[in-house]
Amino acid sequence: MRCEQADEMLTARLDGRLSDDEEAALSAHLAECDRCRAEWHRLEALDALLAAAPTLPAPAALSTRVLARLERREQVRRLLVGGLALVLGTVSLAALALAPVLTDLLNAVGLLTLLLTGGLTTLGNLLAVLLVRFAVPLVALFTVSLLLALALNGLWLGAVRRIRV
Ligand SMILES: [Zn+2]
Repeated sequence: MRCEQADEMLTARLDGRLSDDEEAALSAHLAECDRCRAEWHRLEALDALLAAAPTLPAPAALSTRVLARLERREQVRRLLVGGLALVLGTVSLAALALAPVLTDLLNAVGLLTLLLTGGLTTLGNLLAVLLVRFAVPLVALFTVSLLLALALNGLWLGAVRRIRV
C-alpha cells in the first residue's frame, strides 16, 4: 500500500467505514510506515479532543441583543429616508414659493419683455444680460435653498443620533 492510499483510509478508519480487508492492509502499512503511523496518532488525538469538547450553549441574551440591534438599525434607516424626503420636499416647496418672486424680479428688470419682444439680438448680448440680471437672484435662491437643506439635515441627524444612543 502507498502512503497516499493510507492517507485516504485514515479518516474512513476513524469513522469505522473500513472493510476487514482494508483494515488489515492499513494496519500492515501503519506497522511499517512511521509517517502514516504519526498521522494516524495525530488524527486520533484530534478526534478525541473534538469528542471531549463541550458544546457551549449560546448566551440566552444574545439573540435578544441581535434582534434589538437589527430593529434599531431599521428605525435609523427609516428616519434617514424620511429625513431625506422631508429635505427634498422642503427645498422643492421653497423653490416653488420663490419662483413667483424670481419671476417678479425678472419682470421688474424688464428682461422678460426683452426676451418676448426679441430685443436681445446677439448671443453675446443675451449672455451678458443673463449673467448680470440672473446671477444675483439665482445665487440668492441657491444660497437660501442650501442653508435650508443644511439646517433640516442637521435637525434630522440630531434626531437620528438621539435614537441611536
Ligand atoms: Zn505511509
